[in-house]
Amino acid sequence: MRPESAAGGGLSGSFDGVENLVALVTGANKGIGKEIARQLTDAGFTVYVGSRDAARGERAVEEIGGDTRLLVLDVADDASVADAARQVGTLDILVNNAGISGDDKTPAQENAGTFRRIYETNVFGVVAVTNAFLPALRRSAHPRIVNISSGTGSLSWSAGPQFPHRGTYAAYRSSKAALNALTVYYAHALAADGIKVNALAPGLRRTDLNATAAASDGDPAEAAAGAVRLALLPDDGPSGEFFSWDGTPVPW
Ligand code: NAP
Repeated sequence: MRPESAAGGGLSGSFDGVENLVALVTGANKGIGKEIARQLTDAGFTVYVGSRDAARGERAVEEIGGDTRLLVLDVADDASVADAARQVGTLDILVNNAGISGDDKTPAQENAGTFRRIYETNVFGVVAVTNAFLPALRRSAHPRIVNISSGTGSLSWSAGPQFPHRGTYAAYRSSKAALNALTVYYAHALAADGIKVNALAPGLRRTDLNATAAASDGDPAEAAAGAVRLALLPDDGPSGEFFSWDGTPVPW
């Protein structure tokens, strides 16, 4: 499988042949994650559909078809993460997609408890899952980690004139800024293992994430294609970088 080159950024290419390769997408029972799982399945991967709810995950597995398997995985629950990791021998692609949104409050309006709740999934969950699956990733010849971030996590953009609602959605946006930082740190820490780690800004997509997303007309499949591109980066491809869904670089 060789994905089409990016529309705008020139990110292209992949390693050849995905037969017998294994991917895990967290939060893959709906939304962007489900589309990523579908596209990786169509590309020939065996795909673990991560879902914290078995019934919702099973439905997604049935809908996607192909070589998909349910992996019950609550990224905010250490026991669930450990149990899931025990079930996967070798892992070639980890997509840290599971995420939750918050309300539109500034940090001055928000309470610390909401920050903690969102960080549990969007930040600490990524650390827990990534570390638990590192032994499986180290068994792969082309290990890749894709962190589904957000353009709203870009500090450069937040500090500039682009955002009309300055400082709002602070808990969610700062959780994605923290995820961006982790992307850089993991990329450096895992470079010697050949594990590439990149972050994706998927763009605004019509999903259940929050009211703004639900009201948008952005196609989740388009964002998923951006994630798959990062999942299939060739061995000389980038690591520790932040890309938009169309392959163009996003400033940190
Ligand atoms: P979504 O439709 O709400 O999907 C979120 C997924 O994450 C669901 O499968 C959800 O499972 C799962 N999840 C939440 N908490 C979890 C946990 N503790 N353990 C395991 N799974 C958990 O939203 P989405 O838009 O597809 O979001 C996917 C990613 O894209 C998120 O990281 C989000 O921040 C990012 N993103 C989305 C947009 C957008 O416009 N949609 C823009 C920028 C970034 P349940 O069904 O069990 O709740």
